[in-house]
Amino acid sequence: MTKRSERIEVLKKTVFEMFPNAETELYHENEFQLLIAILMSAQATDKQVNIINRNFFQHLITPEDGIRMWVEEITDFINSVSFFNNKAKNIFKTCEILIREHHSLPPKSIEELIKLPWVGIKTAKVFLSVTEKAPFLGVDTHVHRVLNRIGIVTTKSPLETDKKASQIFRVEDLAPLHNTLVLFGRYHCTARSPKCGECQIKSVCSYKHKNI
Ligand code: SF4
Repeated sequence: MTKRSERIEVLKKTVFEMFPNAETELYHENEFQLLIAILMSAQATDKQVNIINRNFFQHLITPEDGIRMWVEEITDFINSVSFFNNKAKNIFKTCEILIREHHSLPPKSIEELIKLPWVGIKTAKVFLSVTEKAPFLGVDTHVHRVLNRIGIVTTKSPLETDKKASQIFRVEDLAPLHNTLVLFGRYHCTARSPKCGECQIKSVCSYKHKNI
């Protein structure tokens, strides 16, 4: 039986080789825009969000720009993304709060981030992992799927995976693994057609439906 520690070592070696210096694929020019892009990516792909934001972010560079636009104009920019009405309202509210309480910059603690509209623990951890290299794995659907398939965790939700991962990975591995595992899940161990045949992890992977 393959031990979890062996799976972790093979996973790390493989994904760091495949995706060295992995970074978020969400288009942004500053941390405020990254926060907004992460909010917009709920129930949407990075690709969809990037198409919108290449134009939208020419007009939304600071929270002050958001306040000047009002909700209606924000809605017009983002109306091709899912839940655009709610997302536009929350972008506007986020701009108001950042100006009023945070000198127009995103806060840098989980406690303050989760007070913003639509920001949960997962979003806060993803944001801090990317911007601060904070020791969080920031588990999204890709990271959750990959770790469960390999057999490093056996969990039912990204939140549970996040909790478990913070106990079993070395703290210094958490931030570098976030974007790396997102890319591995997005392009290699994909939801529908994982590339098991050419996968360096297959000898230790416990996924029952390995596509070899
Ligand atoms: S063997 Fe297949 S399921 Fe396992 S990690 Fe590789 S691609 Fe994913």
